[in-house]
Amino acid sequence: MQRSPPDARRVDTPPSRPSASGAVYLVGAGPGDPELLTLRAFRLIQLADVALYDHLVSKAVLDLLPATATRIYVGKERDNHTLPQEQINQMLVRLAREGKRVVRLKGGDPFLFGRGGEEIDTLSAEGVPFEIVPGITAALGVASYAGIPLTHRDHSQACVFVTGHLKNGSMDLDWPALARPRQTIVVYMGLLGLPALCAGLIEHGLSPDTPAAIVQQGTTSEQRVVTGTLQTLAQRVADAMLTPPTLIIVGEVVRLRERLNWFRPGEERPPVAPRLPVASLPDR
Ligand code: SAH
Repeated sequence: MQRSPPDARRVDTPPSRPSASGAVYLVGAGPGDPELLTLRAFRLIQLADVALYDHLVSKAVLDLLPATATRIYVGKERDNHTLPQEQINQMLVRLAREGKRVVRLKGGDPFLFGRGGEEIDTLSAEGVPFEIVPGITAALGVASYAGIPLTHRDHSQACVFVTGHLKNGSMDLDWPALARPRQTIVVYMGLLGLPALCAGLIEHGLSPDTPAAIVQQGTTSEQRVVTGTLQTLAQRVADAMLTPPTLIIVGEVVRLRERLNWFRPGEERPPVAPRLPVASLPDR
C-alpha cells in the first residue's frame, strides 16, 4: 500500500510539556461516564492548557482537567448556541496561535452529529495543527449501559444512526429505509419529535408492537430508561417527564434488555485496574 506524503499540519509527536507551539485536540468525551474515555483522550485532557466544552460533556470528565486549565463553555443546547459556530472556530485558531494546547471536548464522538468536521475545516484552512481523538458515541455507550445489544443475530442484521431533529415541526427522514425488518434504529436528538417518529415508522410499515426504548443521560448515575412499543412509548415518556439528552432505540433487540440489563445507576462499581499514571502511558 502506498503511503501518503507527510502532511506538515499533522501532529506527529505526542504532546509534551512545555508546548513549543499550540495545537488543537478535538477530543471525543464519550457519553458521560469518564471511564469510557480513550487513553489518548484521558492523557490529553490532563495536559490541557485550555478546554472548550459544550453541555454534553459530563462534569466527571471536566473534573479530570488540571486545576490550571482554563475552561470555556461554548454551549450548544438545542436552539441555544451560546457561541456561534464561527466564533468557536476562530477562538480555537487564536488560542492555538498563542501557543496553547487546546482541548476541544465534544460529547460522544466528534464526528457523529457533532459538527467536528466544521471546526477542523477552519483549523485546516488556517494551518493550525490539529488531531482528532474518537470517542464512544452515545449510541454505543447508551446501548451497552441499557443492556440493549444493537445487533443480535436472531433479531437484527443492521443498525442505523439518524438525527430526529425537527425541521419546521417535522422530521426529515428516509422513512422507507428506516422502516425495515431486522434493523435497529438509533435516534439522536429525538425527544421532541418522538410522537412523529413513532407515527412515521408505523405509517411506513413497522408493527405498532415493535419494541422501543428511550434512555436519558445514559452511562451516568442519572441514567433513566423508559421502554414500550412504537404505540406506547410517546405517552410513557410524557408521563415520565424525561428531559434531554435522550437517545431512542427502536427494534426487536430492545426486548433483550429484560435479560441483559446490568447497570445500576448511582451504584459504585469496583475499579478493574489501578489508575494508570499518565506519564507512564506509552507514547505513540
Ligand atoms: N457527538 C455526539 C452526539 C451529539 S448530538 C455523540 O457521538 O454521542 C446530541 C445528542 O446525542 C443528544 O440529543 C442525544 O440524543 C445524544 N446523547 C448524547 N449523550 C447522551 C447520553 N449520555 N444519553 C442519551 N443521549 C445522549
